[in-house]
Amino acid sequence: MNELRLIDCHAHTSDLSYCCDPGITPQTYLELLADRPDLEAVAITNHGFAAYSVNREEAFAAAYMVNPALFDDKREFGNARIETHLREMEPLRGRGLLTGLEVEMLPDGRLTVDDRFRPRLDVLIGSVHFLPEASAPERVLEVWWAHTERLLGTGIDILGHPFRWLHRNAGVIIDDRMVRHLVELAKKHGVALEINSHMLIPSDLEMAKTCAATGVPLAFGSDAHCLEEMGILDYHRHLLTVSGLDLATLPLWKPRPRG
Ligand SMILES: [Zn+2]
Ligand SMILES: [Zn+2]
Repeated sequence: MNELRLIDCHAHTSDLSYCCDPGITPQTYLELLADRPDLEAVAITNHGFAAYSVNREEAFAAAYMVNPALFDDKREFGNARIETHLREMEPLRGRGLLTGLEVEMLPDGRLTVDDRFRPRLDVLIGSVHFLPEASAPERVLEVWWAHTERLLGTGIDILGHPFRWLHRNAGVIIDDRMVRHLVELAKKHGVALEINSHMLIPSDLEMAKTCAATGVPLAFGSDAHCLEEMGILDYHRHLLTVSGLDLATLPLWKPRPRG
């Protein structure tokens, strides 16, 4: 039942993502694809917050998540880096690689990518990596839900690792009611939800089942940052097996059509 070819919707390269192992390039993924007939494609989705930062320290300080005007100061710098990356990627699109970015939403509702790049991306993933507004513990859930729903309405294709920040950074146990609510929001906004194997979340299984039951597309991401993770979707296949879901009938995310 699980023999269909899969798309890995989420992978990093070292030219733009400081947290990716050095030396991992689009070419590295092309070599992987040559040995992996079970993979239909891999989307290269580097971090917006890293592309628009001069080094790792600046990226992870994420100062523009507090003061979005700082993002504008880095706009031309980041745009030049993304332009270089997309020029390298463009001829590889017909060979199993997809163009993309994994971006965050600034407090003013903008994404950490210049809108001019959107038409050149096969996939735009929106993820929560930083949420400084949620520093007060009693407001974490309220702020996270408001941020996540607004992010779902920004034109992203996939919500990346949907509950990761809430579970790992805020220590919230994700219950079935929360999963159902998120799936409803994703359906309303026409956004796919990602099962991400870089960090496993206990609610992944329930999310997969709820998406399948409601027709919300699931996206499978390795979120590879190193050679060992590249194109590895064993966790995703395992979730399908234990939940009795059939890959052939599952609503799966597909790249957006491009001219
Ligand atoms: Zn991420
Ligand atoms: Zn990622």
